[in-house]
Amino acid sequence: MTAKRWSRGLWWLCRQPDQEVTFIGPITANGKTAPGFACRRCCDWSHRYVDAYIRQLDARSAS
Ligand SMILES: [Zn+2]
Repeated sequence: MTAKRWSRGLWWLCRQPDQEVTFIGPITANGKTAPGFACRRCCDWSHRYVDAYIRQLDARSAS
């Protein structure tokens, strides 16, 4: 796994300017796509969300 690159910028879901953000993937809205950058707190939350999602998938495929 490669280390994330952090830079100062705006994460528009938190709307806190000048915080450390990292690229988390493209975000599509109304058929248009832009690069998405998230702050550390949102990244931590996203990790927990993805882990829970994968556990659900594993539980389903096991049954
Ligand atoms: Zn955030």
